[in-house]
This record gives sequence, structure tokens and C-alpha cells, in this order.
Amino acid sequence: MMSFENSVPVKVIFGFGKLDTIGGHTKSCGKKALIVTTGSFFKENGLVDRIIGYLHAEGVDSEYYYAVSPNPHLEEAQAGADFARKTGCDVVIGLGGGSAIDAAKCIAVAVAQGNDIWSYWMGEKTIFAALPIIAVSTTSGTGSHITPYSVLTNPVTNEKPGAGSPFLFAKVAIVDPELMMTLPPKITAATGFDVLAHAIEAYTSIYATPFTELYCQKAISIVGKYLRKAMADGSDREAREMMALADTFSGYSIAIANITMCHAMGHSVGGVCNTVHGECLAAMTPSTMRHSMNSNPEKYKNIGAWLMGYETIPADWTPGKTVDAVEKLITDIGMNVPLSQQGVKRTDFDRIIAGTIGYMGGGCNNDPAAPISAEDVRKVLEGSF
Ligand code: NAD
Repeated sequence: MMSFENSVPVKVIFGFGKLDTIGGHTKSCGKKALIVTTGSFFKENGLVDRIIGYLHAEGVDSEYYYAVSPNPHLEEAQAGADFARKTGCDVVIGLGGGSAIDAAKCIAVAVAQGNDIWSYWMGEKTIFAALPIIAVSTTSGTGSHITPYSVLTNPVTNEKPGAGSPFLFAKVAIVDPELMMTLPPKITAATGFDVLAHAIEAYTSIYATPFTELYCQKAISIVGKYLRKAMADGSDREAREMMALADTFSGYSIAIANITMCHAMGHSVGGVCNTVHGECLAAMTPSTMRHSMNSNPEKYKNIGAWLMGYETIPADWTPGKTVDAVEKLITDIGMNVPLSQQGVKRTDFDRIIAGTIGYMGGGCNNDPAAPISAEDVRKVLEGSF
């Protein structure tokens, strides 16, 4: 018997050149926008001024805030909220990858609820208000433009939880592949691998639905066909467009079916060691797949077949061959960097394990091989080290 819920209330505006519609979309949400980016790259390349122009043409004022790190910090979002309050912003635009969009979401909550937000990110309290959020994605990607999540790092506690709330859905997500053309190969590879990790995890999650399974199948096939191309030639418009689509499909999938063991570990590793999100997932995905694949071998077989572009699954295909195919992709895109070469030390393991089964325990519980024990996490860390 089937039983599921499926709601992702984000208006998606997809296509080359669609950034020029941002004025009208923002006008329907507020009168003054705070544009949030990680660093000044998009100011220097003219994108922020283009957006300010589109907003101005629709009578929308704006302010600009760029003091946000990749893997955004709690206090950066709080300072952004102070700035938004002081300048009277009533809508927040996240322009960038997951970091800028997540920071924008966090600022939107902090303006509406007050700056004391950490317990809401740790899942101890329920988010109850946020300013409207517009997401403009420039990586492919984290799916944050579609998801009801925002990931924040607290450098004091070394924790990196993801808050989840319907208030964190963007009102409008603009996915303009033109904006991704400037992504350097390494960020293309790391963010592109995140798309695959989302699809693998959402597809095998115990909360997968018939909708999310379709999105995941499509996302995995697209990554198999286009990620190498997008990395080899960043000006390949078809590859950029298809990766943006896969990112959006994967975003839908995790919005509903959520992430599993690998992302739960990835957050905790990131909180303790400040790793690059996609690169750290690439190091751990093969080991987590080997850990969980026998809990649902059919699904793990499908993943590899879709990644390879097979129309029918070869009779001798196995979950192990799927993991080999994932490892081959990781090598081809230059993401075969073990945790030991990403700044992770064995002495970090205890804190990583505590975070994985502690504040990220919800992700572990979605895994097909749940329950996930501290020893399971340690084994995967060793296998990825
Ligand atoms: P990112 O946003 O940290 O960006 C990485 C770097 O690329 C930054 O320096 C950024 O300025 C630069 N950049 C972005 N777009 C560019 C472009 N078009 N051209 C040139 N440079 C560009 O990277 P990310 O992987 O997109 O985001 C990672 C963050 O997202 C992590 O904190 C991760 O935990 C989080 N995340 C959130 C969700 C969610 O649902 N909210 C899901 C997965 C991951």
C-alpha cells in the first residue's frame, strides 16, 4: 500500500537569461531587498549591480551584504540580520551557492524572530517566522534553492546543523545556467558531486516516494552524462543547463525524502574540520554505500545502471559494481581526495562521530541500514581516510 505526502511550494523560474525577471518576483514579496553573497566575487563581476538595476526598474530598493563565508557562520548571519533590520529590508535574496542561499534563509529567520536562533538550528525549537526569501543559485549544487533547509556552522561549538522548516522554502528560485558559467572546474566538480550524493541518499532513504524516486533517477542519469563535460569545459551550455536541472531535481528529492548517513557525517566533518562540502562527501560516499547497500540491493543496482546510462540493467550487475561506477566518476572529476588530505585527523573522529549520531542523528535514521551506530560511523571514517 502506498502512502506519502509531497509538497515543495517553491516557484521555479528556470532557463538561460531568467535572472532578468528578478525585479518583478521580488516586488511581489517586498519593498526593499537585502542581497546576500559569499564574498565580493559577484559584485566585482557586475552581477550584483545587474540585480540592483532589475530591482530598481520595478521600484524595489536594495542593500548588499557580503560578509559571509563558504559554509556560513552563525555570527555572520546574525550580523546580516542586524544590517537588514537597521536598513529596513523586508525580503532577502540569496545569490550564490548553498552558502549564500543558506545565509539568506538564516538572515530571513533572524530578522523575523530575533537573533537568538542557534537552538532553532539545533532542532531544539521550531522556527516560527521568516521574511520572504528569493534564491538565485549559481552552483549546481546543493539544491538549497528548492529545499526547506539551511545549514549553518557554529565555529565556537564546531557544529554544522541543518535547520528544516517550511519557512525556509524560497518563495521563488531563479535557476539561470548562465550564472554557473563562471564556476571554476574544482567547484563544478565538488558541487556536481553533491547533486549525485543527494540523489543517491534521497533515492535510498526510507522516506523515498514515487515522486522523489523519479527525480532521483533523472538526476543520477544527468550527472552520469554531463558532470564530466561541465567540468572539462565550463562554457558547455548544454552541460551547465543539464547540471542545473539535475541539481533542481535532487533538491526536490531531499526536500521530501531527506538525506541519509553520508550527509549526516558530512555535516559533522564540516563542522569539526571546515571541509569543502562536496569534496568531503566524495571521500565518504563509496564507504557509506558499501555500508548500506545490502539493505536495499535493488536500489543500489539501479543507481549504477542509471549512472552508466544503461537502458536495461546488465544481468550480472551488482550493488558493488554501482559503487565502482561512483568511484570511477569521483576519480574522473578529480574528487578522489581522502579525508586525511582534507584536513581531517584521526583525533577528530570522536567529535565527528558524536555530531553524526547526535545533532545529525535524524539523517542517520533515514538510512536504509538504520540504526547507525558509533562503530558504523567510525568504520566509514576509516574507509574514507
Ligand atoms: P558555496 O556556496 O560555499 O560556494 C563555494 C565557492 O564558490 C564560494 O567561494 C562562492 O563564492 C563560489 N561561487 C559560487 N558560485 C560561483 C560562480 N558561479 N562562479 C564563481 N564562483 C562561484 O558552495 P556550495 O557547495 O554551493 O554550498 C555549500 C554549502 O551548502 C555548505 O554549507 C553545505 O552544507 C550547504 N548545503 C545546503 C543544503 C540545503 O538544502 N540548504 C544542501 C546541501 C548543502
